[in-house]
Amino acid sequence: MIFVSMISTETKKDIRLINKPELVEIILELGEPKFRANQIYEWLWVKGVTSFDEMTNLSKSLRQSLKAFYEIRTLRTDVTQKSNDGTIKSRYTLHDGHKIEAVLIPVPSDNRYTVCVSTQVGCSLTCKFCATGQMKRERNLDPGEIYDQVKMVNVQCEAHFDRPLTNIVYMGMGEPLLNYKNMMRSVELISSPEGMGLSPKRITVSTAGIAKMIKKLAEDKVKFNLALSLHAATDEKRNEIMPINEQNNLAVLMNSLKEFYNATGTKISYEYITFKGFNDSTEDADALAALCKHFPALVNIIEYNPIDGVSFEKSDSLDIDTFAKRLRSHGIMVTIRRSRGKDIDAACGQLANKN
Ligand code: SF4
Repeated sequence: MIFVSMISTETKKDIRLINKPELVEIILELGEPKFRANQIYEWLWVKGVTSFDEMTNLSKSLRQSLKAFYEIRTLRTDVTQKSNDGTIKSRYTLHDGHKIEAVLIPVPSDNRYTVCVSTQVGCSLTCKFCATGQMKRERNLDPGEIYDQVKMVNVQCEAHFDRPLTNIVYMGMGEPLLNYKNMMRSVELISSPEGMGLSPKRITVSTAGIAKMIKKLAEDKVKFNLALSLHAATDEKRNEIMPINEQNNLAVLMNSLKEFYNATGTKISYEYITFKGFNDSTEDADALAALCKHFPALVNIIEYNPIDGVSFEKSDSLDIDTFAKRLRSHGIMVTIRRSRGKDIDAACGQLANKN
């Protein structure tokens, strides 16, 4: 009796928190035919309406009943900034006034149009090089709030570049694996034909390294890609910049990643930000190469983007090239990601709701 139980509730519930079987139950309780649930679901997730009045193939009385007990909580665009290199950062306001950011990263030469989405308001993991880590973690995003970022940036991508998004990365504000259930539901919506219908192979979830939850991904045999924000190849150095490493050291992480690889057959990506004089030496490259020998992996080297109050410096370009060359000499697949959107604080590690 989902609908009846809602009647006794004073505040309206977000209808997008209701799954399809529950929606069917509500519709039947209202004496409507089952197919109405499909119509409502399509309005919510495929067409992305923001009000019940837009659901024009429903009767007025059904719309009134829904309106009486439910609301549709969508994101509102707060600020949009465009970088000199084409990167677009959007800040959104959530229904409770919190703000989050998503970034559109266009690379026309590779035909790649990627959105980087947030999964939490703030973050609890306090990585030393990250602006989000300096914010308090306020709350997890719900599945619709993650999904909306993709949907809205997709519209932005069509408007600016005349084509839809090609890739989705969960690398914005927050740790996706600490919001596991909602992250998984958002992936389901993005990849389902009843949502955006994008292949899960176009989705990458990035984690700072929560071994227990990586094992859960393996158990759930997920189809999307997994990236580990590694940034240091020894426990000593990783403890220094990522406190989460103290409970999830490299041996434990490698073990969980191996389980992930064995269960899914998907290659792991290591994200590695190079910091001048800290983790960009030949010895660091050799230590990283040793980690890559556990199972098939590829390394994405990322240029560091300075943030306020942090003493790390960006590695010299030549040092980055030497580092990459050393890794390649070990037979490791390496890409170098030059920083994007720095001028608008949209680059990796810079998201912090700044004006
Ligand atoms: S790098 Fe990711 S996990 Fe670490 S503080 Fe920033 S948002 Fe959180």
